[in-house]
Amino acid sequence: MADDPFENMLAQMDRAEEYADVDHGVFERLKHPERTLKVTLPVELDSGEVEVFEGYRCQFDSARGPFKGGVRFHPTVTQREVEALAGWMTWKTALVDLPYGGAKGGVICEPKELTQNDLESLTRRYTEGIRRMIGPETDVPAPDMNTNPQTMAWMMDTYSMYEGHSVPQVVTGKPLEIGGTPGRVEATGRGVSIVTERLFEYLDRDLSEATVAIQGFGNVGSNAARLLDEAGARIVATSDVSGAAYDPDGLDVSALAAHVSAGGLIEEYVAGETRADRGDREGDGSADRWDDPDEIGNDELLTLDVDVLIPAAVEGVITADNVDDLRASAVVEAANGPTTVAADEVLTERDVQVVPDILANAGGVIVSYLEWVQNAQEFSWPLETVNAELERRIGTAFDQTIDQYDEKGLPDLRTAAYTLALERTASAHEYRGLFP
Ligand code: GLU
Repeated sequence: MADDPFENMLAQMDRAEEYADVDHGVFERLKHPERTLKVTLPVELDSGEVEVFEGYRCQFDSARGPFKGGVRFHPTVTQREVEALAGWMTWKTALVDLPYGGAKGGVICEPKELTQNDLESLTRRYTEGIRRMIGPETDVPAPDMNTNPQTMAWMMDTYSMYEGHSVPQVVTGKPLEIGGTPGRVEATGRGVSIVTERLFEYLDRDLSEATVAIQGFGNVGSNAARLLDEAGARIVATSDVSGAAYDPDGLDVSALAAHVSAGGLIEEYVAGETRADRGDREGDGSADRWDDPDEIGNDELLTLDVDVLIPAAVEGVITADNVDDLRASAVVEAANGPTTVAADEVLTERDVQVVPDILANAGGVIVSYLEWVQNAQEFSWPLETVNAELERRIGTAFDQTIDQYDEKGLPDLRTAAYTLALERTASAHEYRGLFP
């Protein structure tokens, strides 16, 4: 079922089972989340109305360590989606070898329709709802879609109020001033850029000759675009909900980022409504490099004839319905769960390399771990140390995935990544045994 992310995650596990050295009984255990809490969140909005929201926290597996995973605010959140995302966090932390299990949280809401006060009240109420379940040694939330360092600050404050003292270690992705780490905001995009570079080295291809299309220009997509642009790749297309910008000669990523961070939509950028963003380049001799981009649809972006396609938005966008039209020769999954298993099978058949989400977007949780460690040490590291450690850890996971793929002759990189993650998680279960 393409539109049920949990079924998709189970199907990904099933594809890997025949190659993974995992006892069947343990494997079955890994298909079930440990627990999911559903909370009802009545919030008095700025408008004076009381609105009742619904939220979840799923703790999927803790054999390898405390639960870890983000919290998303989105109108299409469902319990099944949160459970799938918690499963993916479990495989992700195992693959990049962090001492964590996997979790995820979500609140059904449309953040665009909420004021800053509304978001604060909702975040605090949600934190109260799940606070008996989270903690520095039990479950550590972080940002995800539509949540950010400010959201984490409210969560940290709410939790700390009940504890009677500051507990920075209860969440990661905090602002620097209250125990955040340098490099966390851009970490997921940086990881995406690192694995894309590693993939090109592995394929013996030149990244500076490569064209890249990125679906989504939020925190992950925009940072991946900037860092890949700096690495020499040509970013030819990117998008948001309003539409996509396409320029075969390459987009001006920094102008686009400035436009979007000032609250602009890509549709407006393409229409030239913020020509000032681009105008300041006139006269400095580089104006010719940047033609006005064309507006294309989000669907069209996915089927552009590019070297690398980076889905960096929501799950389930590469499906049986559009996979035959995909022309990219590699896919780097910056989003969680962007490819359905039916589409995966076609991509494997066509030898399109897919760097799976649990590897490609692991930069965020790696730097979350580094933040958590610094909080425990009550010692802070400089950006260079954080970035070097991120690169080392995601690079090692990339190399291990490639070795597994090559040495075991596995069908694709996702299967290679899953066999490693499942074997590590299963092994932790076997050592720990069953209680009681
Ligand atoms: N939400 C991010 C993810 O999907 C980061 C999770 C974390 O840092 O705990 O990987």
